[in-house]
Amino acid sequence: MEAKILDGKKLSEEIRGGIKERVDRLREKGIKPGLAVILVGNDPASEIYVRNKGKACEAVGIESKTICLPEDTTQEKLEETIQELNEDVRWNGILVQLPLPKHLNERDALSKILPEKDVDGFHVMNAGHLLIGTPGVVPCTPLGAMYMIHQTGVSLSGKNAVVIGRSMLVGKPMALLLLREDCTVTVCHRKTQNLSAITREADILVVAAGSPGMVTGDMIKPGAVVIDVGINRVEGKICGDVDFESASKVAGWITPVPGGVGRMTITMLLSNTVDAAERTM
Ligand code: NAD
Repeated sequence: MEAKILDGKKLSEEIRGGIKERVDRLREKGIKPGLAVILVGNDPASEIYVRNKGKACEAVGIESKTICLPEDTTQEKLEETIQELNEDVRWNGILVQLPLPKHLNERDALSKILPEKDVDGFHVMNAGHLLIGTPGVVPCTPLGAMYMIHQTGVSLSGKNAVVIGRSMLVGKPMALLLLREDCTVTVCHRKTQNLSAITREADILVVAAGSPGMVTGDMIKPGAVVIDVGINRVEGKICGDVDFESASKVAGWITPVPGGVGRMTITMLLSNTVDAAERTM
């Protein structure tokens, strides 16, 4: 059996069409949705991500600006910049591109963003909303992954879902979203033993480990939905955490890398920004 491909590029185009219509409606009412991005330092990958976010905003009519701060920026300067953006009504969304240089405290910086402008969903208040199940901003990558899972039409209630990775950015919020859909969720991490025995029980398998090709076809339950969140650069090429060749022969559904979850992440960022603008009405 050859897995069906969950095409993040195609799906994103459809969703972005709807986002553009929402932006047009806001603009008719005199509201211009805006996203401000803070980039600290010169990490080449971060520079590419930020540029792509800017281009994606432009394509749907969201105003965007990038504030570039030097590598040796102090915590105080970073937090001051966040505060200025909090007070500036032009910006409905504020995003601090991660990772920050080592001398800066990410958690402290993120906690300075107003929760309603926190379009990445990393503020402790939004993390809390997700935990207790009240409305808040959900992090873009798990939100996009969840959207793709829904595209399969597979009913989630009572299914075994396995998430590899327990980061605050991806693994933990992903597990909570699956739990919200009544899945039986197992979260795996570096200390997990007998990983393949666990993954072989997964009807839904989400891999967010940052370890190229770690999940192979023999670790997958036939017919499973496999969501590959990993973005790794190996010999100049982008690849995921799932060995696509062997996995796509066993899975029922699979996301490619590139062209899978990564694309959806930016789409969900646009959606979260428009949500934030709509809340100001
Ligand atoms: P992280 O390093 O913060 O967390 C990785 C997690 O995976 C940890 O909990 C670790 O315990 C677990 N892990 C690592 N190797 C493992 C192994 N061999 N077995 C079991 N568990 C293992 O990373 P992150 O920020 O959560 O990102 C994970 C991956 O997703 C990275 O490749 C990252 O580039 C990618 N990512 C992609 C998107 C996207 O838009 N597609 C967004 C964010 C992150």
